[in-house]
Amino acid sequence: MNEGRVLVVEDEPMVAEVVERYLRRDGYDVCIVHDGKAALTEFASFQPDLVVLDLMLPQIDGKEVCRQIRGRSQTPVIMLTARSEEIDKLVGLELGADDYMTKPFSPRELVARVRAVLRRAGHQPSANSDTLQFDGLVVNRVTRTVEGLRGPVQLTALEFDLLYYVASHPGQVFSRAQLLDAVWDYEYAGDTSTVTVHMRRLRAKVEPDPSRPRHLKTVWGVGYKFEP
Ligand code: CA
Repeated sequence: MNEGRVLVVEDEPMVAEVVERYLRRDGYDVCIVHDGKAALTEFASFQPDLVVLDLMLPQIDGKEVCRQIRGRSQTPVIMLTARSEEIDKLVGLELGADDYMTKPFSPRELVARVRAVLRRAGHQPSANSDTLQFDGLVVNRVTRTVEGLRGPVQLTALEFDLLYYVASHPGQVFSRAQLLDAVWDYEYAGDTSTVTVHMRRLRAKVEPDPSRPRHLKTVWGVGYKFEP
């Protein structure tokens, strides 16, 4: 069961990491960004069901991010703030945030708030988001099966993890080091050529023409992206 997609905007890496761990453990898909500019970009591509938004951020502050999100959607926002005196304005009409937490907060409590706000917004956990569907490719993360144009595709556990990771972030460009960090165990740290090798094998299995991939694209000089 997928509980929903949560975009976490937090420039303190330690806080972001803890929040991510707790949300993932409770079945949420999590995307972390560290500044306001990235928040707005990722809001458009990740399409979160809820945003956890720190008030003090580099580049574009949390207030402005909240305002811009409100300008285009009703997606619930939970603000994180160290400044309790601002809370009334944040949650009130001025910004339209749905809830807030004052730092330091309990990550367990934050997950409870996320769940409550999503429920209030009428969000239903969706069995369908166990499946990622694209043109000629269906990836099911529960059964860990993949259907290509020519039927079921047999992948190794690692190939599946790699495919699922990029396919669940369509359009996002990843460096080999980022993929290594996200998909592989730590003992592979630094050996980015293993990513190249596995991406080649994965293409050979899921792409009808591996030399001209439809989904698993190379971004020259950077790494890879999944093109939906
Ligand atoms: Ca901050």
